[in-house]
Amino acid sequence: VVEAITRVLGGLNRYPDPTNANLRQALAHRFGVPAERIAIGNGSCDILLATGEALLEPGAELVYGWPSFSVYPQLEAASGATGIRVPLNDRHEHDLDAMAAEITAATRLVIVCNPNNPTSTAVPLADIRAFIAKVPRHVAVLLDEAYCEFSLLEDPDASVELLATHPNLVLLRTFSKIYGLSGLRVGYALCGDERFAAALAQVRQPFF
Ligand SMILES: *Cc1c(COP(=O)(O)O)cnc(C)c1O
Repeated sequence: VVEAITRVLGGLNRYPDPTNANLRQALAHRFGVPAERIAIGNGSCDILLATGEALLEPGAELVYGWPSFSVYPQLEAASGATGIRVPLNDRHEHDLDAMAAEITAATRLVIVCNPNNPTSTAVPLADIRAFIAKVPRHVAVLLDEAYCEFSLLEDPDASVELLATHPNLVLLRTFSKIYGLSGLRVGYALCGDERFAAALAQVRQPFF
């Protein structure tokens, strides 16, 4: 990666490709997800905040487990939406049944961090699958998989197949952790519906 970056330093006078076409194409090839359903961000935190901007507003609700990743509360602060924090169970795992019970007509977004940061617990894919089946289609489910490649529970790519049957699902991933590239600021979202990627593009800064 350092060699590849060194090779392109002479092009820093130009803005980057605003469509991130090369990376989206490579990820499309890697995951078998069409490039139109892939969004890139300055780290996956950037995609998280853009998701809040695209989906949330005062009166809307956002459901997530707690304690979990420290950035989720910022989505409430930035949008004025109401955050519903659902306590982890006594094994420090996401309580997906309790989360499903918090979904109302006002819910726009549910975030499940799997494996969870900071408790390092992971929910099996079968449980995630059953949870998504219960979530109404008007609610976006964002599965934050920043650490999925470290999980010993199952193949980190196993969740990708869920996108085919759940247009309201988004898998959030990053080059920061397993690839050790946090300083590069590159994250990506694999989306069940291209309209999610398009919504992010509408609220994102133009060049990244
Ligand atoms: C590290 C992390 C992220 C985001 O990291 P980026 O560097 O912005 O890609 C998102 N979610 C979780 C759970 C993380 O641990």
